Amino acid sequence: MRTWSHADFPFPLPAGHRYPLGKYRLLRDTLVNDGTLRAADVLTPEAISWAALGTVHEDAFLERLRTGALERRESRVLGLPWSAELVERARRGTQGTLHAARDALDGQGVGVMLGGGTHHAGRASARGYCLFNDLAVTVLALRAEDAAQRVLIVDCDVHQGDGTAELLGPDPDAYTLSVQCERNYPFKRIPSDLDVELPAGTGDAAYLSALADALQVAARAFGVPDLIVYLAGADPWEGDGLGRLALSFDGLAARDALVLDHAGAAGVPILVTLAGGYPPDVWDGVRINARTVRAAVERARDVPLPAPRPTS
Ligand SMILES: [Zn+2]
Repeated sequence: MRTWSHADFPFPLPAGHRYPLGKYRLLRDTLVNDGTLRAADVLTPEAISWAALGTVHEDAFLERLRTGALERRESRVLGLPWSAELVERARRGTQGTLHAARDALDGQGVGVMLGGGTHHAGRASARGYCLFNDLAVTVLALRAEDAAQRVLIVDCDVHQGDGTAELLGPDPDAYTLSVQCERNYPFKRIPSDLDVELPAGTGDAAYLSALADALQVAARAFGVPDLIVYLAGADPWEGDGLGRLALSFDGLAARDALVLDHAGAAGVPILVTLAGGYPPDVWDGVRINARTVRAAVERARDVPLPAPRPTS
């Protein structure tokens, strides 16, 4: 099964920073070494064009990001030090999400970006480690190429998808569902079509029940979409440094199964992105993400995919 990774494009980060930069290479190598993925099936995306980013983001904001001219306040809310390498990685990551979505729609049924899910990025703001909103960019690109029109976002990162809500919330052909810890970042919400706010300490059973209910509410409100976009955040895990929910490893795996099976039962292609995850030990993040990818691979259809289309 074909997947996408930007792991070979790191960026300068101060020692001890919470962003799990090293995880993405460990994850890719783990999945190849254990036979989940063939090395040849982990592709490196090219950098997405500025024009494609401009379908979603404000021109002046993109120009500040491109040239390193972010204001001090903007750098603070991004939470990562600007560098040309950071921008390059984010452009490749966004393109990887788009490629993975095409894989899902081109017959594989499931597409995987080994990263992505940068849901805090808004039209003119980079926030919470997210430069570009790969989800919204992907939705607009798929529509432009007539690959998918109506998209359901299922955001299971522990933090609310405020950027996605800003960009796709008002869109009648996109339904944004976000399941999060109620007292957690971002403290100023932008409402999704459906927000599920869970108290700190929520464990497996209550979480899974709330998610199952929310998927049914979304299905009733929105019908059958052309594509489901899943953010399989690792940060609802009980040991996460930023999460405040209390899901176990098995609870997260049950969550992945719930969303993947929901898509499978409806016959809807699904794009899987990994979004956030901040365990003190990076290997716990690898363990959670690897289980997500293995579950996705089990559900993918084994079809020969066309060569990746060039950046639009
Ligand atoms: Zn998060």
